[in-house]
Amino acid sequence: MKRAFVTGVEGQDGSYLAELLLEKRYEVHGLVYRENRSNIPNLGHLVGNRDIYPKRLFLYFADLDDADSVRGPLEKSAPAEVYHLASQSHVGQSFDKVEETCRITALGTLRLLEMVRRLPNPPRFFHASSSEIFGNADQAPQDETTPVAPVTPYGCAKAFGTQMVRVYRKTFGMFAVNGICYNHESPRRGLNFVTRKICHATAAIKAGRQRELILGDLGAQRDWGHARDYVRGMWLTLQQGEPEDFVFATGRLHRVQDVVRIAFETAGLDWHQCVRQERQLFRPAEPCQAVGNAAKAKRLLHWQPEITFEQTIAEMTRAEITALNTTG
Ligand code: GDP
Repeated sequence: MKRAFVTGVEGQDGSYLAELLLEKRYEVHGLVYRENRSNIPNLGHLVGNRDIYPKRLFLYFADLDDADSVRGPLEKSAPAEVYHLASQSHVGQSFDKVEETCRITALGTLRLLEMVRRLPNPPRFFHASSSEIFGNADQAPQDETTPVAPVTPYGCAKAFGTQMVRVYRKTFGMFAVNGICYNHESPRRGLNFVTRKICHATAAIKAGRQRELILGDLGAQRDWGHARDYVRGMWLTLQQGEPEDFVFATGRLHRVQDVVRIAFETAGLDWHQCVRQERQLFRPAEPCQAVGNAAKAKRLLHWQPEITFEQTIAEMTRAEITALNTTG
């Protein structure tokens, strides 16, 4: 049985990836951020399944900032593949937590790379990089050759990790790859991300629990895909003959307002009555035209996003409505 080590396993991507790997008969060793110890809803269905936990899924509570807490589980699990997904992952918050973002997201990646390199049998290494490394790119869409020029603290931290992966690949010969992922969403997305915020509020408005939804820039655009599609891409990068970086994106831009429209339509509501824009919620800096070209992933990995933007937002809205009806 192949063993995989996944950091950030309790997050959106980590939990979908764990499901995928378990389906593929892997043994999954997952690192959970210590502070989330008692709050791992995305893994509830796996932890509650006796055939899976703790037989093929093993969880360790650690902090990327504390190397010893990571080293022990990594050495013990002796994986064939490492998927590094943990980070301070919110771009907006990275402006308020600049140093912490760099410690966790940039230095945390370097520490893990170094630990992996020193294992007796170095595993293959996947790093979840981000479209934020491109910042205000001169070209749209961006691809693997686009210059790295971040404009946010999160983007800078991810750029550092991304370049380090390249250094470890070139100079130490490690099988280390970057998946340069554009935004990807799902019902498991954190509430601080705009898609989930909108879908959650839509359900609350429908239930009469909330009257208004206050957002930042309704015109901000993103290339939004579904997390399930993106974790399949992550797995594919480590099944190749050669280590290479890949962009994962849908190639299509949508506005925040499009998310609002689809969410409200799914709930049978008119958004014009309830949504307000507030300048305070605008970002100090925004990448413009952040849209990816995933041609290389399509060509070499035969990867293709299968879930559309409309399906993703509708699924998220329905999940919120169901959750509200269930909890009462
Ligand atoms: P990001 O791309 O990782 O920053 O993902 P987010 O979901 O946090 O933000 C996506 C876009 O939505 C950004 O351009 C934000 O400026 C914009 N946006 C507009 N209103 C909001 C809001 O109320 N919350 C968040 N998080 N983003 C918003």
